[in-house]
Amino acid sequence: MSRHFDAIVVGAGPAGSTAAYTLAKKGFKVLLLERGRVVGSKNIFGGRVYSRPLEEIYPNLKEAPIQRWVVKERLSLIHVESNISLDYECRDGRSFICYLSELASWMAKQAEDAGSTVVTEITVDSLVQKNGFVKGVKVGDEVVEADAVIDCEGVNRLLLEKAGLAEELRTDQVALGVKETLKLGSAEIESRFGLGEKEGLSWIMLGDVTEGLPGGAFLYTNSAAISLGLVLMLNTAKALNEHVSRLLERLRLSPFLSRYLKDSSIVEYSAHLIPEASSVMLSRPYSDGLLVAGDAAGYLLNLGYTYRGVDFAAYSGYLAAQAFEKAHAQGDFSKKGLECYGKMLKESFVLKQMLKFKGIHNLLNDRTLFSEYPRMLSNLARELFSFDYETPTLIEALKRSKKNISWLKLLLDGFKVIRSI
Ligand SMILES: Cc1cc2nc3c(=O)[nH]c(=O)nc-3n(C[C@H](O)[C@H](O)[C@H](O)COP(=O)(O)OP(=O)(O)OC[C@H]3O[C@@H](n4cnc5c(N)ncnc54)[C@H](O)[C@@H]3O)c2cc1C
Repeated sequence: MSRHFDAIVVGAGPAGSTAAYTLAKKGFKVLLLERGRVVGSKNIFGGRVYSRPLEEIYPNLKEAPIQRWVVKERLSLIHVESNISLDYECRDGRSFICYLSELASWMAKQAEDAGSTVVTEITVDSLVQKNGFVKGVKVGDEVVEADAVIDCEGVNRLLLEKAGLAEELRTDQVALGVKETLKLGSAEIESRFGLGEKEGLSWIMLGDVTEGLPGGAFLYTNSAAISLGLVLMLNTAKALNEHVSRLLERLRLSPFLSRYLKDSSIVEYSAHLIPEASSVMLSRPYSDGLLVAGDAAGYLLNLGYTYRGVDFAAYSGYLAAQAFEKAHAQGDFSKKGLECYGKMLKESFVLKQMLKFKGIHNLLNDRTLFSEYPRMLSNLARELFSFDYETPTLIEALKRSKKNISWLKLLLDGFKVIRSI
């Protein structure tokens, strides 16, 4: 292997492969290093990707391994045996369902076809710094040099920590996501979820699915499998008396879901961390000789009803590559030369969205939101729809269902929700 590259990209997730692809297309000599046995083997997610940002980067996105296009959204608030769901159907093709392992592998193939050198089963041990300037990476005893390194190592960001460029993550800043892939025939999926061929459902569940704890569950329909998962803040998950996988198992077997999942079989179980708090975001995702993109920089948005990580990762990788190109033109890979990355991010939807929803993490950590309100809404529905003789007015039904939540709290919480999302 050559000892000097224009750029070294660490991690072949959506951020890393996109950075490598963008650079290679411009003719740069790029090395993309991935610790997994094959690209994709370490990449786990729920299931839905917003397509527009990827279409801008990959003109051939239609050839990507897409399982189904989302045509149905369902948001359910679950309380014991009853639940309230909001269904939305639209066939505008804005997001698709896929396996991240397959998408990451497809993206790395695009990077390779464009001219990047992609090497798997290589764990970068550290960033090589000379007087604080990143000059390359160290793998075992070997040093490979580059004009700049693009760090796309994902949420754990051990390399950044080791180099003193990021602080160790706290358990209240990250969530634990667990997921089961359940094999089920495509005809079954289509009839049980009311979908056509290639049509998919994205289903988010809040409330008793996490036993009232902050977090939620997701279900995505693949072509011939279901992705079912749970997300809980790591500090909450650690305080549980049982493993989160037990909660997921209970959800799968609950009367609420079991009819949809009947006769399916588990083919895969996976778990991964998710950067949830906005405080994970690096205040400056670049340094002398270094650019950071994707989860490693903290670019992930969880709004409770939808997740955006893959498109943010890919787009930040794309911008990091463009910043590299500008710095190369000026022959300056110092902080000053790379600060254009910060500007591009600020002007892009990635940072705009991250800053717009900065307060969302505090809201999503409010326990009443996941325990009291699903109960209140489910009681409200019962009051309104299940009666013997007298139909209550909305105010009467609300009064009876809100129980120990005061009108003032209701008002203040409503205001808090509106301000945060
Ligand atoms: C349970 C769960 C559900 C999610 N659901 C969604 C969803 O529905 N939609 C969505 O858009 N996002 C979702 N996300 C978030 C999304 O998966 C991430 O935001 C996205 O994968 C980040 O991409 P990345 O390239 O930054 O990092 P990653 O995908 O984590 O890739 C990092 C890569 O770097 C490699 N690596 C790490 N360290 C080294 C090293 N030292 N040397 C070499 N290689 C290294 C890893 O092996 C990995 O391949 C979910 C995440 C989880 C965990």
